[in-house]
Amino acid sequence: MTDCLFCRIAERGIPAKILYEDELSLAFEDVNPQAPTHVLVIPRKHIPTALDIREEDKGLIGHLYIVASKIAREKGIAQPGFRLVMNCNRDAGQAVYHIHLHVLGGRRMHWPPG
Ligand code: AMP
Ligand code: ZN
Repeated sequence: MTDCLFCRIAERGIPAKILYEDELSLAFEDVNPQAPTHVLVIPRKHIPTALDIREEDKGLIGHLYIVASKIAREKGIAQPGFRLVMNCNRDAGQAVYHIHLHVLGGRRMHWPPG
């Protein structure tokens, strides 16, 4: 059994509010939302950080963005606007070492980010 939290969510070993899934990816509600909409989009493939993305993952990474856009449209945040974030390593605050796109919206985002 894997000790990766997001692999376990993908395997349905840990419950999550899954909004979308397909053979390559999953989207589920963040357990500690930082905005009215806060969804995580992950690949089923275990990739620890953005630095571990390989040539062969290019299509997969593009797919994550397409899923994120679909979620944004469904949540009604596409036109007002939303933010896609992938944190990498300590200084960015990465807590789960399985890449994920944060889809954040439903409020005005700040720039520069904190
Ligand atoms: P990051 O800090 O970029 O690695 O983001 C990790 C995110 O995972 C945080 O926003 C957490 O709130 C979220 N998270 C942690 N555990 C769970 C869980 N069991 N289900 C859903 N989201 C989670
Ligand atoms: Zn994993």
